[in-house]
Amino acid sequence: MNIMENDDRELGMHRPISRRDFLNGIAVGLGVLGPGFAEAAQFAQDSPDYYPPALTGMRGSHNGSFDVAHTLRDGRFWKTAGTPVDTRETYDLIIVGGGISGLAAAYFYRARTSPSARILILDNHDDFGGHAKRNEFRPQGRLLIANGGTLAIESPFPYSKEARGLMDELGIDPVKLSDEAGKAADHHVFDGLQSAIFFDRETFGTDRLVAGVPGRRRGLGWREFLVKTPLAPEVQADIVRLEEAKVDYMAGLSSDVKKDRLSRMSYKDFLLNVVKVNPGAIPFYQVRTHGLFGVGIDAVNALDCWGMSYPGFQGMNIAPGATMRMGFTPRGEATPKPEYFFHFPDGNASIARMLVRSLIPASAAGHTAEDIVTAKFDYSRLDKSDSPVRIRLNSTVVRARNAGDPASAKEVEVAFVRDKQLYNVRGKGVVMACWNMMIPYLCEELPEKQKEALKYGVKIPLVYTTVAVKNWAAFKKLGIRNISTPGMYHYGVSLEEPTTIGDYHAAPKSAEDPVLLRMTRTPCKPGLSERDQHRMGHADLFTTSFETFERKIRDQLVRILEPGGFDPARDITAITVNRWPHGYAYEYNYLFDPEWPEGQAPCEIARRRFGRITIANSDAGAAAYTDQAMDQAYRAVSELVG
Ligand SMILES: Cc1cc2nc3c(=O)[nH]c(=O)nc-3n(C[C@H](O)[C@H](O)[C@H](O)COP(=O)(O)OP(=O)(O)OC[C@H]3O[C@@H](n4cnc5c(N)ncnc54)[C@H](O)[C@@H]3O)c2cc1C
Repeated sequence: MNIMENDDRELGMHRPISRRDFLNGIAVGLGVLGPGFAEAAQFAQDSPDYYPPALTGMRGSHNGSFDVAHTLRDGRFWKTAGTPVDTRETYDLIIVGGGISGLAAAYFYRARTSPSARILILDNHDDFGGHAKRNEFRPQGRLLIANGGTLAIESPFPYSKEARGLMDELGIDPVKLSDEAGKAADHHVFDGLQSAIFFDRETFGTDRLVAGVPGRRRGLGWREFLVKTPLAPEVQADIVRLEEAKVDYMAGLSSDVKKDRLSRMSYKDFLLNVVKVNPGAIPFYQVRTHGLFGVGIDAVNALDCWGMSYPGFQGMNIAPGATMRMGFTPRGEATPKPEYFFHFPDGNASIARMLVRSLIPASAAGHTAEDIVTAKFDYSRLDKSDSPVRIRLNSTVVRARNAGDPASAKEVEVAFVRDKQLYNVRGKGVVMACWNMMIPYLCEELPEKQKEALKYGVKIPLVYTTVAVKNWAAFKKLGIRNISTPGMYHYGVSLEEPTTIGDYHAAPKSAEDPVLLRMTRTPCKPGLSERDQHRMGHADLFTTSFETFERKIRDQLVRILEPGGFDPARDITAITVNRWPHGYAYEYNYLFDPEWPEGQAPCEIARRRFGRITIANSDAGAAAYTDQAMDQAYRAVSELVG
């Protein structure tokens, strides 16, 4: 199919696919509320058929989850908010945000106070887990699971005692799980397939798929690979030089001086001005950093790229070891830690589910890391008055304040909006496990310096798209399993790795069986500072409809896979776009950020306790990792319980 002919009919835009993105059940008659408030009013999550993981279409920050927050940001909320309805509930602890950090805070608080501690967790999304979200599909009746966000347990640095302890108590041993998964026979079903790059005509002049990426599965040599690409011969020659030649491009300088200089230039500038590659090579590398940084090589420093073993440094005699001018993630690359490669089929949503099952045992059966994968959750049990811990979904917090002088306050008041109604609830303390940039709007009494610090980091926008397809025959015919698409809307497409754990067996028996495809997008604007690029990305994601995503996805897949017989109108059965405008926590980037003195980094000022208000979440560590979310929860709880 010629791309010019890819009209909506051929792409299958008219085909009925699974893209339900609404839930049954709405709030009814509220009135004056007593302590059994959540039972008195029938909210969506109280319905027995409420099950968000099965929803497809636009997920992640789904429609309806951010409107209240944005009116608060724009200064419009309180003009029409009215007086809150008092739920007359009181809790030992209120937690804003039901991601890993909020759930871990509940776990730590209960462990350090009492099993009967009364805890309320409020989250604006229709599901718990924050970024750690689960997506389910049932092509041909078979359960296939994917992560809607947070995937990997491993982190740049080893887990702290507290985070490791929490994982142990939950019964999650990633090394053991990794060994077990590796032994499963069906783990190797895609082993014969290669990695590929798709050169799109808008960027490279012609549409061409080239399999056998050097250095990856059954990869070719660089020359052998590049000669098949549409890149000009002089560009190919420079890529070979960059990848293979052992040249010291900063001869005569000490390793320390080289590191310092590299930390002050982008990798793009290193390639163009130091290695002096032909500018035609830049599009080949531009999005290489997107997965970790959400921006291209123009906004990531060359030292970070050295730390992550990018090409060009192999002859430069740079001594091993990180410097403080490296970002958090590349710095961690140099640190030894336990080796494993394991992730749950739904990523760290399984950790969130294990936390919820521990906090509210009636929500799901089972007790192991294996049985959590297929455990059916009963969301109607999450917010019941007979449970000490309650999770209230679709509830956006709009205010959290000390009741009285912060220095002596014994209580907090928290206001939240649920189904367009404003409510008030009281607690002995509150952990803000939400996003840092929201907190100044929620806690107006905070000192100005702390508010500025909370606003500093700009979360990284990301999209994890999952496409359910009837079979993977086209991949088999083309001999490929994952394709980098450096010029396209999503920068990569791959077959979802099959995982076997407990009763869950995702691996297809043959190429005719249904599978999931994973696609990733990170909108940004090359040339700006990293934080400004993320701001542009937010705007892009909040203004792009699901229909636009769907069209782009279908077009991208047919252009790559049609030579293998793929027909988007026939083969796609469901699409889930996990849109995360406020994704990864911002990790400092010393290409743009100053080096702050000890204790003065924005995240350190931002996370200071204020009376009975403490601050958790991964932004508080300026590091986008699960163990960081747990560590920050532990600290925030410690500040409340002493
Ligand atoms: C696409 C993606 C992939 C990732 N992959 C990985 C990975 O592989 N490994 C890894 O370790 N980390 C990964 N991360 C980083 C991830 O952010 C952290 O690991 C961790 O899940 C963060 O947990 P958290 O609780 O701090 O924040 P979140 O998960 O963001 O949870 C905070 C919650 O607070 C809610 N909230 C915000 N404001 C309010 C309000 N006013 N009222 C009520 N609720 C509110 C938010 O909506 C959210 O649900 C990924 C992140 C994304 C977006």
